[in-house]
Amino acid sequence: MRITAIHLHHLSAPLAHRIGWSLNWADRRNGLIVEVQTDAGLTGWGDGGGSYDTLRARPDLFLGRNPLELAALHDALREPPRMQRRPGPMLAGGLDTALWDIAGQSAGLPLHRLLGLAQRTAIQPYCTALYRKEWSDWAGALAAEAVDWKRRGFRIIKMKIGFGVETDVQLVGAVRAALGPEIGLAVDSNCAYDAGTAVRLGRLLERYDLMWWEEPVLADDLEGYARLRAATRIPLAGGETADLDTLARDYVSRQLVDIVQPEAEIIGVTGLQRLAYLCWLYRVRMVPHNWGTAIRTAAILHAMAVLPPLTEGIYAGPPALFELDRTEHPFRDAVIAETIAPGPDGLIPVPTRPGLGVTVMPEAIAAFRVHLEKFR
Ligand SMILES: [Mg+2]
Repeated sequence: MRITAIHLHHLSAPLAHRIGWSLNWADRRNGLIVEVQTDAGLTGWGDGGGSYDTLRARPDLFLGRNPLELAALHDALREPPRMQRRPGPMLAGGLDTALWDIAGQSAGLPLHRLLGLAQRTAIQPYCTALYRKEWSDWAGALAAEAVDWKRRGFRIIKMKIGFGVETDVQLVGAVRAALGPEIGLAVDSNCAYDAGTAVRLGRLLERYDLMWWEEPVLADDLEGYARLRAATRIPLAGGETADLDTLARDYVSRQLVDIVQPEAEIIGVTGLQRLAYLCWLYRVRMVPHNWGTAIRTAAILHAMAVLPPLTEGIYAGPPALFELDRTEHPFRDAVIAETIAPGPDGLIPVPTRPGLGVTVMPEAIAAFRVHLEKFR
């Protein structure tokens, strides 16, 4: 089997209501879907636009190759070495995912059966919502939205903070009061703070029983993470913008955070598989970041199906968890025929059909496409 063509589908769509967080406002959602065609009639799909510079510069590294040589292709995607440095990490997560999709289809097995020992058949999502509001009663609007997500069955909900210490305390207090004590609540400040300010905010937020605090400081402020982790009782999370080497070396093996949040767009299925072993070794929880389409969600479900528990015994630890973005997204769910959503038990089943196990809809991808790059 040989790779005959690789297509990069660039998608974009305007939002009805712009959404904001501590860094920015967005009035569109963009995406990149990767399609890999083979001479065996199998087509693999992946979602993720990390970086395709290696593909654009050297398409011959991929075209004509056997897609089942997954590890070799993963390392071929590394950026070339610079003087006295190792080659840079692979960033094209969508392409890596598409190769795994082909491997699963070729073997007639769902992707998770290729990745390791299945630990579970369904994964608990947490709800990502509660973005910045432009309304005059910001806290009241967030509280009302939080109650709506609780009514729809979510047991864990994440909200945006990072708008200043006093504002954050007011917003988190309003949402916690509206949700009650039984719903898990996490906060995400998107690198808003220096460590000193974060220590002060952490003290004030501890009373709200938070499951984690995501990106409290800049992603490369390793000393800041370490200082805050020693100063607060709130578990820390981060890593969504980091490459695999940085996640392994700085976040996991140093236990910089309690929960590492790798992004499949950047590190691919291969990266999730490699990081899962390190997380087990260093006893760091892995809760993948996910702001992509349902194609990426399917890949993450397979990776989570085989994630080993961190401890043995009667208490198996917190449930395996991943991010389910519920903010407005015109094509997130349209790109596959199936609907990925929690069942009555609040869990999302891991796909069981070969490969990613979902039916990609090329017509839907074409409908939202603004640019197409073809390599053949
Ligand atoms: Mg985040």
